[in-house]
Amino acid sequence: MNDIKGRHLLLHEVSDLLDERKMASCLIEDGVTKRAGVYFCHRCGNDKPYLFAAFHCARCQKLCHYCRNCLMMGRVSECTKLISLSMDETNRPLNVELNWNGTLSKGQEKASLKITEAIEEETPLLIWAVCGAGKTEILFKGIEKALQTGKYVCIATPRSDVVRELAPRLKQAFPKVDVASLYGGSEDRGKLSPLTIATTHQLYRYKEAFDVMIIDEVDAFPYSVDVSLQFAVKKAQKKKSSLIYLTATPSSFIRRQFTPLQIVKIPARYHGYPLPIPKFQWCGNWKKALKKNRLPNPVMKWVDAHVVREKQAFLFVPDIQTVPLVVNLLKDVHPHIEGVHAEDPHRKEKVQQFREQKVLIMVTTTILERGVTVPGADVAVLGAEQDIFTESALVQISGRVGRSINAPTGSIIFFHFGKTNAMVQAKHHIEAMNALAHKEGLLKQSSQ
Ligand SMILES: [Zn+2]
Ligand SMILES: [Zn+2]
Repeated sequence: MNDIKGRHLLLHEVSDLLDERKMASCLIEDGVTKRAGVYFCHRCGNDKPYLFAAFHCARCQKLCHYCRNCLMMGRVSECTKLISLSMDETNRPLNVELNWNGTLSKGQEKASLKITEAIEEETPLLIWAVCGAGKTEILFKGIEKALQTGKYVCIATPRSDVVRELAPRLKQAFPKVDVASLYGGSEDRGKLSPLTIATTHQLYRYKEAFDVMIIDEVDAFPYSVDVSLQFAVKKAQKKKSSLIYLTATPSSFIRRQFTPLQIVKIPARYHGYPLPIPKFQWCGNWKKALKKNRLPNPVMKWVDAHVVREKQAFLFVPDIQTVPLVVNLLKDVHPHIEGVHAEDPHRKEKVQQFREQKVLIMVTTTILERGVTVPGADVAVLGAEQDIFTESALVQISGRVGRSINAPTGSIIFFHFGKTNAMVQAKHHIEAMNALAHKEGLLKQSSQ
């Protein structure tokens, strides 16, 4: 029985676990129903007509509509029953202790206290932490408290690479806890643990399971635009629970969901050096230049300087098509210049080689705007005026520079063919965070 609590399952997945007596305590609902002429999927919240299809169903002997939106987790149709069983209200505290001896920066300390408070009081919280603030460590104390009081904690993120990166760190911090890590293809899929790390997609399988829902990178694609993922997160939370958002770039839509007291900023990086400020460099009509098989002069100069000094760098470009164009032009300059994009089958290997310093300059689309840290690398953006480079994308991209304590500075250049509001706002955003960090005495220089 315990293995179905808090989960949202298809009847045939659990029928051998349940006899009629046990079934009585479960909630059984139809998978797909029609409301005011519109189909609705109760597992993923989809109500878009084009995301439903019909088939001649052997089970109900009718034309049966099913949800295409969550099909990858097994088909939910009109005659499918969904089973769920509420979690016990009586919490069983876990006898766990945090296994971590690091020290928090002053900014982290403040956020850590706020998180613990939000978990205790079951209130919402937005942690607005600059890239490189050290987001994971600020969660430790709050998670410890939650587990000790019998709460179930879920850290959800739109990106599976974040799950894979976080899981081992949390397992190390809480060695006695059975940490579940859920993403498409992971062994733990469908498991429920007091400490669960999941992609937002995996939350379709849960219902009223978690007392604490922490969403990392809340502004990242696809969560920020997919209402059904937002439905899944809400459904997976208990009615009384705390919701904690973590991000370096909250949209104004997200910020409006919190009162000023429910927003905590960490404006400084854990190492206490200010965020590098982007420089703008006009580079003319770079698209035209590329058509003539050349790169604008300022960009070539930047490349040459990095080749001469053998200094690693990211070169962001606006779209997939531009990646091979730029890489082919630069291969002659230096053999260790590579390109990567979302559809690249060798994406993982190439990123690994970049981390191992076997790639000097990595030409990339915005897929590397988050997550990948290469100590000491500089950053440039080619075509920073393009729409894909929003304020938040540019802030995240700038956040790649100077993250390591051993290389806390570096340069970031926006090569552009006309300055945009997004570029200016990104620069302001970063300057404002540095100013706030200075004011709060969080920067190294201000303490000297
Ligand atoms: Zn669905
Ligand atoms: Zn059917």
